[in-house]
Amino acid sequence: MTTELPHERVPVDEARARVIAAVRLLDTESVGLAELAGRTVGEAVVAPHSLPTHANSAMDGYAVEAGSAGPWPISAQILAGDNPAPLVPNSAAAIATGGVLPDGADAVVPIERVEVVDGVVTATESIASGDFVRHVGADVQAGDVVLHPGTRLTPLATSAVAGLGLTSVACIRRPRVVVLTTGDELVPPGVPLERGQIHESNSVLVGATLAAAGCEIVRIANVPDTAEATRTAFAAALADADLVVSTGGVSVGPRDHVKPALHELGVTELFWRIATQPGQPVWCGSAPDGTLVTGLPGNPLSCLVGLHLLLIPAVRAMTGSDPVPITVRAELAAPIAQLPARLRAIPMLLQAGRLEELGAGASHQLSRAARANALALIPTGTGELPAGTIVDAVPLA
Ligand code: AMP
Ligand code: MG
Repeated sequence: MTTELPHERVPVDEARARVIAAVRLLDTESVGLAELAGRTVGEAVVAPHSLPTHANSAMDGYAVEAGSAGPWPISAQILAGDNPAPLVPNSAAAIATGGVLPDGADAVVPIERVEVVDGVVTATESIASGDFVRHVGADVQAGDVVLHPGTRLTPLATSAVAGLGLTSVACIRRPRVVVLTTGDELVPPGVPLERGQIHESNSVLVGATLAAAGCEIVRIANVPDTAEATRTAFAAALADADLVVSTGGVSVGPRDHVKPALHELGVTELFWRIATQPGQPVWCGSAPDGTLVTGLPGNPLSCLVGLHLLLIPAVRAMTGSDPVPITVRAELAAPIAQLPARLRAIPMLLQAGRLEELGAGASHQLSRAARANALALIPTGTGELPAGTIVDAVPLA
């Protein structure tokens, strides 16, 4: 493996472009409000009416007709939810935040800016028409697009849907994912290890990451290291998934059956190996029906790289979202060496704008990396980036 030339590894941007070009946008389905958070908008969410629907008060205070500072006798009390009568001329109506502005009033004097003596209000500052009034349509006009297709429905976006009075949204179907782990050495957590065995952890990483990215995890299965079992498992996975993710078994060892099995199943290679460190042994292919198949490396921190730099973008493309990875800019807490032909992708702890290494220098050091909340991207180069250098990092969900 070490004899291969650097140019044989596909730069990660190029690999990602091939993945994105290969996936198809999934269909839409109607999703009810209670299930909306985490989904992706499929058809534009349009305001059925303007908001606010009625001019109302932005403050607790007094609704008046602007033009003077009073004095005004208090003629009414208006609470949020009331349907008030017109303002008695030359008077003030006590009004709560959100209370409908009565006809005849065009401003609100906040409670902090009045003096009240014997039921008569005087403003302590001048008032202009429109002061502290929330006007009809100031939030949104009837017919405006509030959420465009491809927008992720965060809790905030979901509450905006509720605020429009809507009970459902046409969302993109959740990408269906089958996760296959390969390796005869793997045993489930909870089972005591015999010599040579390790506890299986990649399916937890892949499953949780893709579920958080909005996928439906159809199945997680461990595949024995035989050609027959590998072919059978991938054939079933292709039938059930939009995205098949396997881990391990993709290199060139005697037990690495993934690539031959996928070749037999008619999956066309998109690329083999990316120019990252760790994470280079990634195989990606496209089935005749457009299902994306990825063989991620078995080492957990290598697996993490393909997952975030390739598969989350693929999922975002399937759901009509901008597939370019979301990154933050942060400074390195300590110097770090660059590699001439490979992007380094290192799990780090991002705190107060600084990225700290956790000593996870090798791709099997999962426990050391466990506290990481960002994948720092160290661009290619021949030197060492000094402490304080600003780099991109992908937040880890
Ligand atoms: P492979 O790519 O199959 O050669 O695996 C590379 C390394 O990753 C080996 O040390 C495997 O034991 C380890 N590995 C493979 N799959 C998993 C998994 N699902 N969970 C944890 N470690 C794994
Ligand atoms: Mg293996």
